[in-house]
Amino acid sequence: MKLVVALGGNAILRRGEQGTAEEQRTHVEYAAAHIAGLVALGHQVAITHGNGPQVGDILLRMECAQEILPLMPLDICGAESQGLIGYLIQQALENALRRAGVHRRVITLVTQTVIDPADPAFGRPEKPIGPFYTREEAMAHSDRPGWTLHEVEPGRFRRVVPSPEPVRIVEQNSLRILSDEGFIVVAAGGGGIPVTADADGTLRGVEAVIDKDLTAGLMADALDADVLLILTDVPHASLFHDTPQEEPLGRITAAEAERYLAEGHFPEGSMGPKVKACIRFARSGGKAGIITSLEDAPRALQGLAGTCITP
Ligand code: ADP
Ligand code: MG
Repeated sequence: MKLVVALGGNAILRRGEQGTAEEQRTHVEYAAAHIAGLVALGHQVAITHGNGPQVGDILLRMECAQEILPLMPLDICGAESQGLIGYLIQQALENALRRAGVHRRVITLVTQTVIDPADPAFGRPEKPIGPFYTREEAMAHSDRPGWTLHEVEPGRFRRVVPSPEPVRIVEQNSLRILSDEGFIVVAAGGGGIPVTADADGTLRGVEAVIDKDLTAGLMADALDADVLLILTDVPHASLFHDTPQEEPLGRITAAEAERYLAEGHFPEGSMGPKVKACIRFARSGGKAGIITSLEDAPRALQGLAGTCITP
């Protein structure tokens, strides 16, 4: 089967860790071993990934160095994170494949995603990014052009940016050609670098972030994939998550998933976009969108684990 695999942020960097190069390498190697297993089973794989923790580190590093180096806009930070994570995946996966005796090349594509400048998200930036600030620091930063700061916890502020819907992956043809040629492509990291496209095709980076699960769905459409495989740190999506009534979901239709989404079972910042991406993919010609863990992925592809959203 042709799979688009979306790796969650914690497949690379875990919350609460320092985020050393060694830690990130170890997590990526673990993820790569599982993905190599899917390739060894004969699946054609393309990969996308989150970048929240890495962009957070890049932003913090910039803050610390601002006396001597100019601040960079978010699109450039996103590009930096795609290179960093893509490199780690590319190397770890090629090593894992070589060990498994599978001869496939892995290539990372710096990817831009077109968004609509009229997207309502631009009217209400609400995706927190970067470090936490005290009230005094927040006041000092509030005059930076294009900055909105929210008090996310009492006395703790963070920058918030718009999270518009992904409309189109700029590099989708390159992605398709590379994948058809047999390359395992790592693309659209962090949802892709958000850009606007003028009528004449001119592209410009914007200060926003795109949800990686929603772009993963577009990538699966662009590649005509059979399955959108969203791998995260839970084995399935559930109803009544984190309550004594928790009920894991197995195979459900897009219509059922939509009803549960409307009932509020899947929050915006975490499970919501995963379920939404699977519903859209199932409705645009995909066979299934699957939400599961790295470890359960092979069994989920056989219908024996995970949450599977079908047309
Ligand atoms: P990723 O980095 O993989 O995108 P997220 O943290 O964004 O991961 O989303 C996964 C998290 O969603 C899980 O760790 C889980 O705690 C949370 N979650 C929220 N609602 C649900 C639900 N209904 N079913 C399962 N997990 C849920
Ligand atoms: Mg997420």
